[in-house]
Amino acid sequence: MNREQLAQQVIDTCLEMNALGLNQGTSGNVSVRYKDGMLITPSGIPYQKLTPEMIVYVDSLGHAESGKVPSSEWHFHLACFEARPELNAVIHTHAVHCTAVSVLNRHIPALHYMVAVTGIDHVPCIPYSTFGSQALADSVSSGIRESKALLMQHHGMIAMEINLEKALWLANEVEVLANLYLKVSSVQNEVPILSAEEMQTVIEKFKTYGLKSE
Ligand SMILES: [Zn+2]
Repeated sequence: MNREQLAQQVIDTCLEMNALGLNQGTSGNVSVRYKDGMLITPSGIPYQKLTPEMIVYVDSLGHAESGKVPSSEWHFHLACFEARPELNAVIHTHAVHCTAVSVLNRHIPALHYMVAVTGIDHVPCIPYSTFGSQALADSVSSGIRESKALLMQHHGMIAMEINLEKALWLANEVEVLANLYLKVSSVQNEVPILSAEEMQTVIEKFKTYGLKSE
């Protein structure tokens, strides 16, 4: 896929993110691996106004192409591409249910087998750091090595996958799980969870069958 096509995919993903209700205002951002760096949404432009030329190339050293300003959260997007060379797309949103769980500083436990979409048996919550900081990029980097989706304390969530379509699917799936977790934990303090053995079975099954909900 050439640059223009990839940039258009970034825009389409942003619009779909809005349609799914995952994004709050202009708080979400999307990136895809390109050359040695990434293509990422620009800072402060509403998705409806985006054109492929406005999507910003940032190289592996963090240099943005001249005349364009990448999303203020570009540091942790770049950190994700460094941390997981086999994955190619990153979605970050302040989706309400994920953010609510992050405020409680809890991870999402294995209350449903779909938690295995992360590649492990829970959705971790990484510690708070100021948005746009290197400290935040560092904790995203170690978190994403462990799990393909993360909650970010007092902030939001990140989903990373092999392409934009799957990353958006994953982001939506994790938001559904966060909603489910809040509902169950509001009725009963201790949330019933699947056993570690069963989650391992599901994790292996997802590897074999790909990321499908069955
Ligand atoms: Zn954010």
